[in-house]
Amino acid sequence: MINIFYAGNSEEWDEYKLHLNQALDKFNISYRLTKNLENPLDIDYIIYAPNGELQDFTPFKNVKLVQGLWAGVEVPLANKSLTQPLARMVEPGLSLGMADYVMGHVLRYHLGTDRFHKATPGEWLSENIPPLSKSRSVGILGLGALGMHCANKLSEFGFKVSGWSRNEKKHSNIKCFYGTSGLNKILSSSEILVLLLPNTKETKEIINKKNIEKMLDGVSIINPGRGTLINDDDLISALDRGKISGATLDTFYIEPLPKKHAYWSHPNVLVTPHIASTTRINTACEIVAKNIHRGETKKPFMYLVDKLSGY
Ligand code: NDP
Repeated sequence: MINIFYAGNSEEWDEYKLHLNQALDKFNISYRLTKNLENPLDIDYIIYAPNGELQDFTPFKNVKLVQGLWAGVEVPLANKSLTQPLARMVEPGLSLGMADYVMGHVLRYHLGTDRFHKATPGEWLSENIPPLSKSRSVGILGLGALGMHCANKLSEFGFKVSGWSRNEKKHSNIKCFYGTSGLNKILSSSEILVLLLPNTKETKEIINKKNIEKMLDGVSIINPGRGTLINDDDLISALDRGKISGATLDTFYIEPLPKKHAYWSHPNVLVTPHIASTTRINTACEIVAKNIHRGETKKPFMYLVDKLSGY
């Protein structure tokens, strides 16, 4: 019998309990799932979200895996008591939601629909018919679980898609770049740039004055990744002079974005309140159960966080 401790948001416990039981019951595992902690030494698996109550992982000496419920891992990585293996959340619902968000805003920029929203009544803006999607280049910084899923969807739709990652990748339909020289190439060839990098020391303010100068004039930026990827002053300055024609920002250094922040009133910025995507409980529970089953059958865990590289 293994003990699984739910340390997520208590308001979501009922729904998690229902779906976790359904998913775990598909495997031949004898388990007890609880949100009430008795003896931490008895716990084999922790299902964790930063908006739950658990802060100190020290007493959980026998835990085989801390399975995160969120894709972002800044909070658990900053927790020095969390020395157990940590898996982040990668699940189909989260990926589908992100692809919907990215596709929606890429199409918005591709079709230039903002100018019609901003038009005054009677303004008949019939010039500038957009090119076909096959002639539009979309670059994605970050070709991980979410970036690659979005890249595939955009490519299937017909866009010319390229992506950038830390390690070399190969893909039949997506032009894959990596490393510093790869960054220069993707920045200088993308008309729409999507940021789906994690928040690490290396990615901090990767969108800065120097890199913005390498971009095409009039590029649009979509950032559902992390607010720390952007130097806000440099982005605003580039928006003011039209180097960057529009930015759709979902993530920020401080959330909620302070009311007086310049982004709110900038005519070419769309602020969305960190809603690009989220973990969908039913599909996430299938992944959690699968990972626990892998642990119990001595297979390597999926989606382990590399604590050194920070993602
Ligand atoms: P992954 O860890 O699967 O992918 C990260 C990608 O970034 C990988 O391709 C990785 O390269 C690349 N990368 C990391 N560091 C570098 C670097 N220094 N240089 C170049 N490439 C780098 O993450 P996910 O795709 O699951 O998620 C991406 C981010 O999306 C999350 O970290 C989170 O911040 C954000 N997010 C936002 C949400 C929202 O609602 N706004 C919801 C969910 C997630 P490689 O493949 O070589 O390792």
